[in-house]
Amino acid sequence: MKRVEARGLCYSYGRGQAVEDVSLYAERGEFVGIIGPNGSGKSTLLKCLYRAIKPQKGEILFDGEDISKMSYRETALKTAVVGQENDVLFEFSVHDIVAMGRSPHKRFFDRDTAEDERIIEHALEHVGMADEAHRRYSCLSGGEKQRVLIARAIAQETDFLILDEPTNHLDVSCQLDIFDFIKRLNLTVIAAIHDLNMASLYCDRLYVMKAGRVFREGTPAELLTPALIREVYGVTAEAELHPATQRPAVTYLPEWALDKNK
Ligand code: ADP
Ligand code: MG
Repeated sequence: MKRVEARGLCYSYGRGQAVEDVSLYAERGEFVGIIGPNGSGKSTLLKCLYRAIKPQKGEILFDGEDISKMSYRETALKTAVVGQENDVLFEFSVHDIVAMGRSPHKRFFDRDTAEDERIIEHALEHVGMADEAHRRYSCLSGGEKQRVLIARAIAQETDFLILDEPTNHLDVSCQLDIFDFIKRLNLTVIAAIHDLNMASLYCDRLYVMKAGRVFREGTPAELLTPALIREVYGVTAEAELHPATQRPAVTYLPEWALDKNK
C-alpha cells in the first residue's frame, strides 16, 4: 500500500464533535505522529482509521480506494493496530496472542501451518520475546506485554500500522525499545504519541490535534516550538534542536523555575 489518506472525517459520540473535519495522510514508509492534549480526538480518529467506529462524515482511502467499500477482512490484511496493554488477553499465552495476528490470513477453522509458525517465531524474535512464547500474557511486565502486541501486529504482515499511545506507563528504556522495534519495520505508521520528545525523535511528520481538529501539520522541527506548546498545552517550554538528532528536545519549565527567572 502506497498511501493512506483521510478526508474530512467527523465523529460524534452523541454530544459535541470528538473529531471534526480531520484530513491527513501518510505515504509509504512514513512515520506519522498524532499529538495533542487528552480529549483532543486522537483515539477517536485512530478508531475511524482501523474501523472500530464509522465516521459520520468523510472518507478513508487506501491507495485512493474508499475502505468503507472493502470487507473488514480486506482492511485487516492491510492494517494492524497496537493500543495500550490489553487486559482482555490475560488468559492467553504469548504464542497464542501472536498467532492471532495470522487470523485475517486464514479461514476460521484453519490450523496454524508451518509457515504461520515461522512468521510467529520471527515476529517474537523481532521484539526479543522468542524465549517467552509459552508464558502467560497476564504474568508479563508492561513492557513485555507491549512487545507481544507488537509481535502480533508484525505477524499480521500488513503495510500499515496504527499505534495508540503504545508506550503509556512504560519506563524510558522500554519506550525506546518499543519505538525502535517499530521504526525498524519500515512500515507506514500513524501513531498517537503522548510524549513530545518521543514524537520528536521518531516521527517524520506530525499532526497536532486540538479540540477534535487538526490544529497544525508539519515536521517535528517545524511544530515543536515553545509557541505551539504554549498554544496547545498551555505550558511553558523550551525546544532546541539537539546536535546529535537534529530534532527538537523539549524541556518543560514548571512554575517554580519560571519564578526563579524573574
Ligand atoms: P484523545 O485520544 O486525544 O485523548 P479521544 O478521542 O479519546 O481523545 O476523545 C475525544 C473526545 O471524545 C473527548 O471529549 C472524549 O471525552 C470523548 N469520548 C471518547 N470516547 C468516548 C466514548 N466512548 N463515549 C463518549 N465520549 C467519548
Ligand atoms: Mg487517546
